[in-house]
Amino acid sequence: MNVSVIGAGYVGLVTGACLAEIGHHVICLDANKEKVKRLKKGESPIYEPGLDKLLKKTNQSGHLSFTTEYPVACKKAEVIIIAVGTPSRPDGSADLSALQDVAEKIGSHARDNGTIVVTKSTVPVGTNRKVQSWLATHSSSAARFKIASNPEFLREGSAIHDTFNGDRIVIGTDDEESAMRLETLVAPFGVPVLHTSIESAEMIKYSSNAFLATKISFINEIANLCEKLGANVEDVARGMGMDQRIGSSFLQAGIGYGGSCFPKDTNALVQMAGEMEHEFELLESVIHVNAKQQVKLVKMAKQHFKDLKGKRAGILGLSFKPNTDDIREAASMEMIKQLLTEGVHLTVYDPVAMENTRSVHGSSVSFADNCFEAIEDQDMLFIATEWEEFKVLRLKTISKLMKTPILFDGRNCFSLEEAKEARIHYYSIGRPAVTHTPAMKKPHSW
Ligand code: NAD
Repeated sequence: MNVSVIGAGYVGLVTGACLAEIGHHVICLDANKEKVKRLKKGESPIYEPGLDKLLKKTNQSGHLSFTTEYPVACKKAEVIIIAVGTPSRPDGSADLSALQDVAEKIGSHARDNGTIVVTKSTVPVGTNRKVQSWLATHSSSAARFKIASNPEFLREGSAIHDTFNGDRIVIGTDDEESAMRLETLVAPFGVPVLHTSIESAEMIKYSSNAFLATKISFINEIANLCEKLGANVEDVARGMGMDQRIGSSFLQAGIGYGGSCFPKDTNALVQMAGEMEHEFELLESVIHVNAKQQVKLVKMAKQHFKDLKGKRAGILGLSFKPNTDDIREAASMEMIKQLLTEGVHLTVYDPVAMENTRSVHGSSVSFADNCFEAIEDQDMLFIATEWEEFKVLRLKTISKLMKTPILFDGRNCFSLEEAKEARIHYYSIGRPAVTHTPAMKKPHSW
């Protein structure tokens, strides 16, 4: 089929490349000219495992191309997939301005009868109906467009794998023929397809993300209690997860969720509920718990040192999770803000998210060339993202490199036994702190 994808970000680019890989002819359009220029040269503007290779392959086979021009993208398209961002407005509701802009432009440029316009962006319930009217803004033939909701469930860091191995593909439309055409489009992925109404499809996305966020905040609250009651959250989570009604995924205690989806989507669902005069108290608490959890390590450091002013700290991990360069709503960003306010001198390191962090924090922090540079001679070290590169470090090595060996590990990367052996002060999440006396101090080496 001839498919156009509007918005070549994490979702649009992966979707476009994967649809090209299964044999469709795909044109990706993005408003960002620089991005399209890089894509045309075969460069991926984002870090996503396997994407570079897939872009090259599908580009060379002639199945995937890029443009900034709507007439090019819309001319032959049988299916147009919208995957532009829907960021949070200050009140938490979803900003649909990019979506509206795109729908209006599609309405102006797509002429074919029966073109299916699919919204993949995460949008509040009722938005697809608005898309139908936006398509009509500059088009006399808008009635001939078919609309469908097809929410995306891929995870950054494993997006290509998820597209080929997803748990379900949800297609929400009123039109049976469109439902069947879209099922045929995605059939080679071999993923189960669920057909629903448009509104239910829109709601499935929000409720799935809200449920996962709830699981995370739940285990984090259990972790906070474990610390006070002397239990170990890892054993607790294992014991809970063995119950098949609960399941073990999303029960890893840490410094909270981040990224471009959970924070935005939980806020938007609370907002949506509010508009219906329904107070979604459970989800409000989930959001509140997460905000506290993201800066928990800063609180721990303040308790340990009393005054942080003038101290030197390293931060390992900046992306909101491993295997992505995405720093949107990452716990590290809030930590950096608070630690700078406390007067801490920061040296940060991430395997792939340095460029993105530089564009946010510029000269207010130092950027290390490798993880050792971020550890060396520090008064304290924080781990904000559980990159494999950090997990294979040995605590004895970290301890030797630091001025005072004090580690605040927000992702429980190391065992308590190793921390005891390495004689490092080790604070983690939901597990007893490992401390040593007397306080270990080394002379300044600079
Ligand atoms: P993104 O910011 O990475 O990409 C959006 C792209 O759209 C950018 O390249 C931007 O230049 C382009 N764009 C913006 N306005 C445009 C316009 N008017 N015309 C053409 N292009 C335009 O966003 P993303 O992470 O890919 O997310 C897209 C949507 O998918 C969001 O609604 C998000 O909630 C949802 N989603 C994201 C993920 C994820 O893991 N990132 C997962 C599931 C769903």
